[in-house]
Amino acid sequence: MRFRIITFTCATLLLAVPVFPYGALGHETVGAIADMKLAGTPAGAQVTKLLNGLTLSRASVLADEIKGWDRLPKGQPKPTILKNQPRLQEQLVAFWNANPPTKAKGSDAPTHKEFHYTDVPAVDGSKYVKGNLGTEPYDIVQMIPFCARVLLGEEPENNDRKITKPVALILLAHYVGDIHQPLHVGNAYFSTAGNLVNPSKGGKSFPDHGGNGFRIILADEKNAKGDTKSKGKPSSQKSNKSKGTNLHSFWDSEAVDEALKQVDETIESQPNHKGKVTDEQVIAWFANAEPTDWKPPAKSKPTEWAQFWANDILPMSTQAHERLAFSNVTIKNDSANGDATEIKMPDGISYLNWAGQRTQEELHKAGWRLAAIIEACLDTEKPAAKKSKSTQ
Ligand SMILES: [Zn+2]
Repeated sequence: MRFRIITFTCATLLLAVPVFPYGALGHETVGAIADMKLAGTPAGAQVTKLLNGLTLSRASVLADEIKGWDRLPKGQPKPTILKNQPRLQEQLVAFWNANPPTKAKGSDAPTHKEFHYTDVPAVDGSKYVKGNLGTEPYDIVQMIPFCARVLLGEEPENNDRKITKPVALILLAHYVGDIHQPLHVGNAYFSTAGNLVNPSKGGKSFPDHGGNGFRIILADEKNAKGDTKSKGKPSSQKSNKSKGTNLHSFWDSEAVDEALKQVDETIESQPNHKGKVTDEQVIAWFANAEPTDWKPPAKSKPTEWAQFWANDILPMSTQAHERLAFSNVTIKNDSANGDATEIKMPDGISYLNWAGQRTQEELHKAGWRLAAIIEACLDTEKPAAKKSKSTQ
C-alpha cells in the first residue's frame, strides 16, 4: 500500500525505531478508515479540534513513534515528532514521562509499552477475564476504556497516566488497531518439552510473548521473503520489517501487506474499474461496506467494547497458532523461542493467504470500531455522550 505518511514526516525517527508493533501501514489504514467515516460528522469536527487538524491516520502511529524516545540518554530532550504541533508534542512528552519505559525503583507506574497488548492464552474457548493469566491492570483491554473515559469526561485530564483528551484520541487511534492484531491479544504457552499447551490445565508453561521469539517458515519461501508482494512498488511502500523471520512481525506487516494486496485485486476485478488502484479507493472500499459482526452488543457502553473486541479475536489467535507446527522450542528467561512452520491445511489455503484474509476483516472492523468508539465518546448530540459530559 502506498500512504506511508510516516516515512517522510518522521524519517529520522524511523531509523531509531526499527520495530513497529502492528506495522505502521496497518495502523494508518485503520486510522484512515475512521477518518473517512467521521468526515463531516460532529464527532469528526471534535477530532479535528482536539488534534489541531491532525488526521487519525497520522495520529495512529504516534504511540509507537514515542518508543523511539525510550532509547535516548536520560534527560535528553525528546526529538520533535509532530512539526508545528507544540501542544500535542508537549502532551505526548508528559504521557511518556508519566509512563516511563523502565520502572523506577519502588514505583508502580506502568510503562507505556505494556499498554499495547494483553497475553490471554490462545487456546480454544479462552476469554479475557480481568485478573486471569496473561492480563495486567494496564493492558490494552484496560487502556482502551481508560482513553474512552477521558473523552467522555469520566476521567479527569490531569490523571496519573497524563492522558489528556488529545492524547486519549492519539492512543485510541493506535490501540484499536493493536487489539485487532491476533498476537497482541492471544499468547501461546509451551511446556518445558516445547509443546503447545493450555496453561490453565496445570503444569509449568512458558509464554511466547506474542510470537516474538519464533521464526516463521512459510511453505512458499518466496512469500516468506515478501518478494512477490512488493513487486512494482516504490521502496517507501515496503514494510521496513517484512522479512518473514519473526511470527509477530509477520502479523504486524506481511499479513497487512497481503490483506491490502487482496483488496487491490478485489477492486481491480470490479467490472467498472479502470487503472491503478488508489489509496482513496482502498480506504473507501473499507469505509463504505459494512463489515460483518463488527457491532458491540446492544446497549453496551463504549468502555466495555475493548473486552468484547479481545474476545472476538481470540479464536483467530488460536487458529494463527494451530496452522503452524512449532519445533526447536527452547525456553530462555521464562520465554519460549523456536521455529514456527506452516502446516498444509485441509482447506488448502496457505498461511499467508489465510492471514491476509483474516487481516482484511480485522482492519475493516478496526476502522469501523475506531470511528464508533470516537463517535460514542465525542458526539455531543448523542444523549449518552451528553449525559456523561454533564458529570464532568
Ligand atoms: Zn502498538
